[in-house]
Amino acid sequence: MTVPVFRFAPSPNGPLHLGHALSALLNADMAAATGGRMLVRIEDVDGTRARPEYERAILDDLNWLGVTYEKPVRRQSEHAGDYAAALQRLTALGLVYRSFLSRTEIAATIVAEEARSGRPWPRDPDGAPLYPSVDRDRPPEEAEAFARAGQPHALRLDMMKAIRLTGPLSWQEFGDRLDGRAETVVADPAAWGDVVLAGKFSPAAYHLAVVVDDALQGVTDVVRGRDLYFATAVHRLLQTLLGLPAPRYHHHRLIVDVEGRKLSKSRGSEGLAALRAAGAAAADIRRMVGLGPMGASTQ
Ligand code: GLU
Repeated sequence: MTVPVFRFAPSPNGPLHLGHALSALLNADMAAATGGRMLVRIEDVDGTRARPEYERAILDDLNWLGVTYEKPVRRQSEHAGDYAAALQRLTALGLVYRSFLSRTEIAATIVAEEARSGRPWPRDPDGAPLYPSVDRDRPPEEAEAFARAGQPHALRLDMMKAIRLTGPLSWQEFGDRLDGRAETVVADPAAWGDVVLAGKFSPAAYHLAVVVDDALQGVTDVVRGRDLYFATAVHRLLQTLLGLPAPRYHHHRLIVDVEGRKLSKSRGSEGLAALRAAGAAAADIRRMVGLGPMGASTQ
């Protein structure tokens, strides 16, 4: 039997909070319970938000929590070549186009279209409007000329064409248990529209980097928050297009604040560093996220 491989994959764009602690601890507990390997991956491909000081703080928090992992950690910003190769493959399949609309132009296009049709513009599972795809059918020579003239753009996936290539997709969802029981979830990547694959300040957008890295690192079990449940549809699509294996998925409950809102890095809510400064110990954090003592949390 192959050794299971787990990973905790934080983005260093803010300090860790209790939600991250649950993710990291569940990964570590599951790795310990199955004799698996535990990796940490720094998802710093978003050049506008990632900061080295957050990476240091994250690794420091993990050590304090007692989460041990293999070294060196993989830092996505050091692997642009791997993502470029995947993009090349998708481009060869005719699935990638350059999109030139700015945020303001996207908003204006949507407002005009809603006024014309009298219907709300479709939104993705996170609530963001789908990209209007106005430049999907632009002749490649014209897009090339715009790009050469320095027009800022992103690379997007032609979602409908991609779905026609793969056919129906699903994933195996194990939740946060280790009892081996899974449910088959039907993936709906179309709900996300023409997702960004790479941008001006980033060699790969999250969806592309995560599937490339999970495959390169041999990750067998993806343990992460429920906020990424629906995004798994895009990951299954990209895995299938790129010929990569499907890991097992374990989406865990989210930790909410006293008002019932999801914790966020930007609000600094329930930050681990602040709890630690206030005298909390790692065992207190385990209790606060609903885990028993180490070794007792996974059935
Ligand atoms: N980097 C992502 C985040 O911090 C998590 C990615 C994943 O676990 O797939 O939200």
